[in-house]
Amino acid sequence: MCGIVGVFNHPQAAALSYYALHALQHRGQEASGIVTMYRDELKNKNRFGVHKGEGLVLDVFSAHDVFTKTLLGSSAIGHNRYSTTGSNSLANIQPFHFNYRDGNFALAHNGNLTNTRSLRAKMKEDGAIFQTTTDSELFLHLIARSRKQTQIEQIREAVQTAQGAYSLVMLSENALYASRDPHGFRPLCIGRIKHEGGYAYVVASESCALDIISAEYLRDVEHNEILVIDQKTVETGEFTSYYINESMEESRHCIFEYVYFSRPDSKIFGHNVDKVRRRMGKNLAEESPVEGTEDDKVVVIAVPDSGNTATLGYARVNEKLFPTRYEIGLIRSHYVGRTFIAPGQDMREFKVKTKFNVVRGVLEGNKVVVVDDSIVRGTTSKSLVKLIREAKPREVHVRITSPPVKHPCMYGMDFPSGAELIANHFETEEAIAQELGADSVRYLSVEGLMDSVPDAPGTGYCTACFTGVYPVEVDLASSKLAMEE
Ligand code: 5GP
Ligand code: MG
Repeated sequence: MCGIVGVFNHPQAAALSYYALHALQHRGQEASGIVTMYRDELKNKNRFGVHKGEGLVLDVFSAHDVFTKTLLGSSAIGHNRYSTTGSNSLANIQPFHFNYRDGNFALAHNGNLTNTRSLRAKMKEDGAIFQTTTDSELFLHLIARSRKQTQIEQIREAVQTAQGAYSLVMLSENALYASRDPHGFRPLCIGRIKHEGGYAYVVASESCALDIISAEYLRDVEHNEILVIDQKTVETGEFTSYYINESMEESRHCIFEYVYFSRPDSKIFGHNVDKVRRRMGKNLAEESPVEGTEDDKVVVIAVPDSGNTATLGYARVNEKLFPTRYEIGLIRSHYVGRTFIAPGQDMREFKVKTKFNVVRGVLEGNKVVVVDDSIVRGTTSKSLVKLIREAKPREVHVRITSPPVKHPCMYGMDFPSGAELIANHFETEEAIAQELGADSVRYLSVEGLMDSVPDAPGTGYCTACFTGVYPVEVDLASSKLAMEE
């Protein structure tokens, strides 16, 4: 997964991109970069400003003169990296920039392509030289090698050839392009900011990135759309928009963006993440409440931060059914990264302990319900139940506001092979409860999950990780493992 941003027509395009990347930090913590386009008046040509590095946004852009000396110009794109294809080498840090027959061009990508291997093999056969091990680099080759006359035609041909999941921001010498694949797996929205020179336009993975720079949300980039923001947009307020495929199919937005990945203060795919997530919690409580009595109230706690919002929904409904208290029973240290990211199993277990601690008084002697958004490998829940038990609760019930993750994601979520997913090792919720050391474990049903997202015509969701129904056929050899050649 990754976070992307693009800014057009603002004197501080790079600084705005920087703040937007801050707000998108949760989408990738491995590396970050910004590429700008500016006019070199002496040489009378356009140049790139480039700054990239490994680590968090705050660290990568810590030198102040980065913004006054390097990242010049009124247009910029930026990227936060979370590697799902390609190693974490420096060459793989985006945005990528290059110069071809139509001038300077830069690109940043969120998502995973599904025909990477075959495309790469074919291009290598034709003599292409690859600089990175990412699927994203394919776009550069596809655009540069296109025989089409105009840039928009070259881009359209490139995105038609790439299959799978892509939300893209692209910067040319005179335009900012934004595009989402025909299924619209990953989010992307458009906003604008008024300033002395008119309106600046911003494209970002999530609307929380617009909020941080006080940009007004306009709309989402649609699935199957290529959007052009250029001087005409600045003058008239109109975007030029193209379809990727002639026919517009129903979307396949990633449901897991709502379950876990996006921030609850964002609006993605047309809905507030907070609302959808609460509904997931409510639906789970309706399906699997935990009983309590007036003298022995159920204590509902969230696994912070990913479980916070859904837990509110769960507690709201459970308290209508049985005497219930919502409490804060786990404290999270914010000075460690996301536990999921640590490579190697032992390291991950250690990290759970450095990340969470219990509030004893809340848990001791009580019937505790701990609510989290998902179980992937099961490491987090297992360590957490163990930790919670140390505070001597009477019972520990685990409630998960999504169905069991049983299938790897081919479109950008960092889900391991099927063999590493705990739901594939145990047939029943009872068996998983036993494995985790909990008194019970209940997952949200697929129906309960889908009921959480309001129906809108033309809108559908990808649920492959839960159901095994993959909207885009996967050339399995193209999966991430095949990339490390
Ligand atoms: P597990 O320990 O079961 O492998 O991981 C589950 C935990 O990781 C859940 O608490 C969930 O909040 C979080 N999680 C789920 N999916 C992802 C993901 O794709 N990336 C990251 N970083 N965390 C995830
Ligand atoms: Mg979590």
